[in-house]
Amino acid sequence: MFESLPSFPADPLLSLISAFAADPRPTKMDLGVGVYKNPFGDTPVMQAVKRAERWLAEQQHTKTYLGITGSIEFQTNLTKLLVRSDLAASLGSKLVTFQAVGGTGALWLAAQLLAKTSSKPRIWISNPAWANHPGIFLASGFTVERYDYYNAASGGVDFQAIASAAGMMQRGDAFLLQGCCHNPTGEDLSIPQLRELFDILRNRGVIPLIDIAYAGLALGFDADLEILNIALETFDEVLFAFSCSKNFSLYRERVGLLLAKTSSEVGADRVRGALASTARCSYSMPPDHGAAVVSVIAASDELRPLWLLELEQIRREIVTKRQRLSSAPFGNNVLSRLSAQTGFFSLLPLSPAACRRLTSEYGIYLPDSGRISVLGISNENEESFIRSLGEVLND
Ligand code: PMP
Repeated sequence: MFESLPSFPADPLLSLISAFAADPRPTKMDLGVGVYKNPFGDTPVMQAVKRAERWLAEQQHTKTYLGITGSIEFQTNLTKLLVRSDLAASLGSKLVTFQAVGGTGALWLAAQLLAKTSSKPRIWISNPAWANHPGIFLASGFTVERYDYYNAASGGVDFQAIASAAGMMQRGDAFLLQGCCHNPTGEDLSIPQLRELFDILRNRGVIPLIDIAYAGLALGFDADLEILNIALETFDEVLFAFSCSKNFSLYRERVGLLLAKTSSEVGADRVRGALASTARCSYSMPPDHGAAVVSVIAASDELRPLWLLELEQIRREIVTKRQRLSSAPFGNNVLSRLSAQTGFFSLLPLSPAACRRLTSEYGIYLPDSGRISVLGISNENEESFIRSLGEVLND
């Protein structure tokens, strides 16, 4: 029976991880994986997380099921960090939250929810996008359309293309937008551009789904959440998929949150019911540990500032790395835009063949798209990375 299955290609990024691990060259660089790396190449557990875990080990008195919506405490404490208090108070129970299995799980819940609103669901996804975005919506029965996001020649957001695509969208369409640190380009919309885009989407009756996987890593935690609060003010109905993987360094613990603003109590009840039904027949109830950690940190006047400090330190390391690469004396002008971009990723103008050559000849691992994770380039590797890049580009 199983022989008749079609073959599913492995995610190229996952194959890259195993090829990197098997490469014996000491000078190899992993620019594929989207995790924080400190200057020693490690992805450590945050101090605030360690302390919350110690507290939990002592204080947690049960491991019984959480319930379908997840931990209410986690949702309340995290939502307080994300949503401005006046907005939260005015929305009351029209703001629905639901614990998710990582940011991916929150996107999956959003996809399943939106799919239940229409017999022909359609979503617009940026081009380029995080590779998993189209897959999640295709698997949920959507027609996936793309809007051009990036101007490869000038290296910035192509706002004209985004706005004109939005101007042609249909009532009931969904529009997926990344909150900050756009994966893979590192290019984000400015606040005035966001407001303009949101006005177009609202006038066309399009529902936004905002994927916030990197809050705190672009301009700072509160600044990166402005998009969420502006969207809550602008739209009657809007969805957010929030991930705690990167900003709490809790990757493997799978902590995420789906937030939905609904326009009525009835709408809110229906959303809760639809999400519960999706959760019940997939994973049933979410894992607890990572969410409990986030909840403890968010509620603690001692741990919250410590965590924010650690998060800010990571953000500064990203900014410094981007500045060093874009202004290196032996630099290459394809890197000059890196300092204007945010987050882990940038997209270099490399052909798939050039990417593979970087891997095979120089031990520099990156996907065929030319996306690099900037913290994968240690200070001591910078010069050899830029030299190798120059050689490949000059060919
Ligand atoms: N959205 C984007 C844009 C991402 O880059 C990622 C992680 N690579 C996610 C969502 C999901 O993150 P996770 O499921 O690990 O929380």
